[in-house]
Amino acid sequence: MSPLDYLGVHIPTIVEDNVSIRCDGCLEVIAGTPWRMNILDVVAPETAVSWAVRPPLNPGPFEFHSDGAHVRMWMRAKGYLFCRKGEVREIMRPLPIPGPDGAEQRYGLCDGIHRDDHELVPA
Ligand SMILES: [Zn+2]
Ligand SMILES: [Zn+2]
Repeated sequence: MSPLDYLGVHIPTIVEDNVSIRCDGCLEVIAGTPWRMNILDVVAPETAVSWAVRPPLNPGPFEFHSDGAHVRMWMRAKGYLFCRKGEVREIMRPLPIPGPDGAEQRYGLCDGIHRDDHELVPA
């Protein structure tokens, strides 16, 4: 099928799917179904008073090519750390990382499946 044949055919139902979705990692258009990731709510520790003034974490969904490397690219750009005991999955749990006083709060992301301590590394 040539491109002209394709453009000459009017298929109303294609319009919605035709809106190009871009990968949040590499920012390129995703052909087909994007791979989606959501971030679970942060469970705020009761002792952390400063939580109230922190901007809430954007829970997503974020859309990527179906390649974990693109998700890691996005994490890196956002300054998230990645727990290397887990894997990139559709649902990630945020791990608040307490910084020194006055420093900006960082987060690590983990799939939350392993039961031992997290090992956070730069994504
Ligand atoms: Zn991508
Ligand atoms: Zn972990």
